[in-house]
Amino acid sequence: MAELSLQHIDKIYDNNVQAVFDFNMDVKDGELIVLVGPSGCGKSTTLRMVAGLEDISRGSLLLDGVDITRMPAKDRDMAMVFQNYALYGHMTVYENMAFSMTLRKENPNVIHKKVLAAAEILGLTSQLNKKPAQLSGGQRQRVAMGRSIVRNPKVFLFDEPLSNLDAKLRGATRREILLLHKRLQATMLYVTHDQTEALTLADRIVCMSMGHVQQIGTPLELYDTPANLFVAGFIGLPPMNFFDVLFEDGMLKGKGFTVQLTEEEKHRLSSYNMKEITLGIRPEDICEGNDIAVKVFSNENLGMNTLVHGHMGNGLRVTAKLRGWAEYRPGDEVRVSFGRKHFFDKVTTNAIRGEE
Ligand code: ADP
Repeated sequence: MAELSLQHIDKIYDNNVQAVFDFNMDVKDGELIVLVGPSGCGKSTTLRMVAGLEDISRGSLLLDGVDITRMPAKDRDMAMVFQNYALYGHMTVYENMAFSMTLRKENPNVIHKKVLAAAEILGLTSQLNKKPAQLSGGQRQRVAMGRSIVRNPKVFLFDEPLSNLDAKLRGATRREILLLHKRLQATMLYVTHDQTEALTLADRIVCMSMGHVQQIGTPLELYDTPANLFVAGFIGLPPMNFFDVLFEDGMLKGKGFTVQLTEEEKHRLSSYNMKEITLGIRPEDICEGNDIAVKVFSNENLGMNTLVHGHMGNGLRVTAKLRGWAEYRPGDEVRVSFGRKHFFDKVTTNAIRGEE
């Protein structure tokens, strides 16, 4: 069992910088939680407070109901996997994985068993006698994970573990971490600035901005029903398009364009009559249609999709992800229609869900 409870956690550094504000979350046993957000939003600070590497300024941290807010890192039964997988170059893979147990003078038979078990899980059995220099970047990252696995910790903490790897290896290692999570069924906290990693790995995502939690939910919840403008713009690639519009006469009037609404959409906006709102449309929710003219300025073929960048209305930038292979040239006009629409309050930036 490893349930974590973060309760009203604040972090204020010595220089009075407040890096984390009122962080609240219950992590269930075996959950893989991804903390995501732009650089400087407080995700590493949060992870390091959980690990015990940073003091918690205010609030409480519980592990399986026990208050560990002030417990030293070494007593917390957690293992941290860092991005710079600092392995000992002069030691073999086996020795690297056995190192911490050897230091603690554990029984050599136990050490042997644990290293072999971890190597098996990570597919490193045939590499145990090699030195780190003889391994690929991905294999070295796995050895670093192996050093954590042998400790059999209650909680695994990952701090941007893939950021040193090239794009192809990142994808492969990401899938390995998913498999590892399935096999170990361990509670994991994972920090990344990469929204793709968050969407592909997480059971639940915590999206942060400027020290504040913006939304906690499954990847689909964050993608499909972002809580506010920040989450809407951060999750999804290419990012969502945003337009200032006025809700009037049952339609949206923007600068040089209008958008018709479905009955459901009008209902959602019922308390916003004659008010300005922000309209959000994901590039993949724009298709070739009859509604709005877009003047193309660039066409990027991705194979199964084409990203078309252009201007609509009075020079508003828009990106559409069209199905299939399109070959628009700069200056071409393409007519499009909007599918799923997201609405945001101009003042609070919160999503308008219609219950207001
Ligand atoms: P992230 O991991 O999301 O990139 P961090 O948690 O590293 O963000 O940093 C959050 C904020 O706290 C940033 O403004 C950063 O400059 C500040 N910060 C981080 N570490 C320290 C420190 N040791 N002393 C003072 N400020 C810090």
